[in-house]
Amino acid sequence: MAEPLSTPKGIHDILPDDHDYHTYIKKVVRHRARQAGFRRITTPVIEYTDLFQRGIGDGTDIVSKEMYTFEDRKERSLTLKPEGTAGVARAYIEHGMNQWPKPVLLYYFEPHFRYDRPQKGRYRQFWQLGFEVLGESDPALDAQVIYMAQKIFSDLGIADVFELQLNTIGTPEARKKYTAVLQDFYLDKIRAIPPEFRDLVDTNPLRLLDQKDEDLQILAKMAPSMKDYLDQESLDFHEELKGYLDELGIKYVENDKLVRGLDYYTRTVFEFWDKNTGAQNAVGGGGRYDGLIELLGGQPTPGMGFAAGVERLIANMKIQKVRVPSKDDLHVFVAQLGTEAKRKCLPLIDKLRDAGLKTMGALGKGSINVQLGLANKFKVPYTVLIGITEVREGTAIIRDMSKGIQETVKFDEVVPRLVKLIGDDKLDKYSPGELTYE
Ligand code: AMP
Repeated sequence: MAEPLSTPKGIHDILPDDHDYHTYIKKVVRHRARQAGFRRITTPVIEYTDLFQRGIGDGTDIVSKEMYTFEDRKERSLTLKPEGTAGVARAYIEHGMNQWPKPVLLYYFEPHFRYDRPQKGRYRQFWQLGFEVLGESDPALDAQVIYMAQKIFSDLGIADVFELQLNTIGTPEARKKYTAVLQDFYLDKIRAIPPEFRDLVDTNPLRLLDQKDEDLQILAKMAPSMKDYLDQESLDFHEELKGYLDELGIKYVENDKLVRGLDYYTRTVFEFWDKNTGAQNAVGGGGRYDGLIELLGGQPTPGMGFAAGVERLIANMKIQKVRVPSKDDLHVFVAQLGTEAKRKCLPLIDKLRDAGLKTMGALGKGSINVQLGLANKFKVPYTVLIGITEVREGTAIIRDMSKGIQETVKFDEVVPRLVKLIGDDKLDKYSPGELTYE
């Protein structure tokens, strides 16, 4: 026998039970997005590698260690997208969205790929939901994005699990000055830095501030404070943002060591941390990226965004014992015996489904008992039975599976009777909306 295959390391199937969570989260996101005028965008899973190198920055963990990069048949370097913002920014430029009414409000719900070390809550393919606000810069927009994130957590029953960590990292110019000061500080302490982090002193000293390593945390406490080097405008922007957050009743922890991993952030950065375990289990984060679009070849365009990890949201919902409604439960099982009965069953199943009853038909060749056993396994409340006698008499049996009682009804009455038994409000009458024609 051939060796059974499995998914690649760190990459998982989403089985039906978890899809109930995915569906629920997607609905919440869509609803909150629509309410606030955000429209959905899907950028490709594969982009030119250059986009991420330029957009995210060579010195970041993502670009230096975590990208799935490969060459296509014409030796062009492509990468599976490790995050959502760079692709959205590329699309903004490519499709001339600077001509759209501003701010341009977009959201996404998609898989992303990072060659991370797989562990609990950390996978190589994971889903993120994200929001981007492009084309306008105002601390009120930052506050609204943060509020949106909070509302979504609250809709998912997990608002109290997280703590908002907030910081400003100023303009790139101010940050450059601070980075130089920080570099001097760490060069002075190079012996105290664990060897595996020493490269960061050169490549990205800011990242030394928010590592989990204990020695680095002690050093970070002694390091010069970013606030002392930031431009006044950024500091004012931050004060204004905090005022709006207070107004909206959003609690936050000021964390001047929070830098986020990516080069493109300016001013506001934030993360939602697990109150108990901190940065390690951040469920989401984001910030302002006023320089990104220009960096990618567009007109200077401010931007602000947020992304959360869907697997981590689901994990937290499960820890909090939040259950989501499943719409997969079947209403009716149709069992039959004999070719004639089967012939009658096919259109009946169709009519039951059209009436909004979720129906499963046993169209195989099992005995009635085997079919009833199946109906029990599917946990349906009702089973319709049609055998040789019923075909001859133009009737069908409806069996109440929990009570174990049954009634015989005229064949034409099967659908209305079951609609009544299940109840109008329980029917699956979802409509995607009316089609119109030009
Ligand atoms: P980041 O932009 O890296 O802060 O990612 C935003 C969110 O995406 C994180 O807070 C996580 O919830 C989620 N996330 C990031 N990387 C992974 C991963 N490798 N596996 C699962 N979730 C992830």
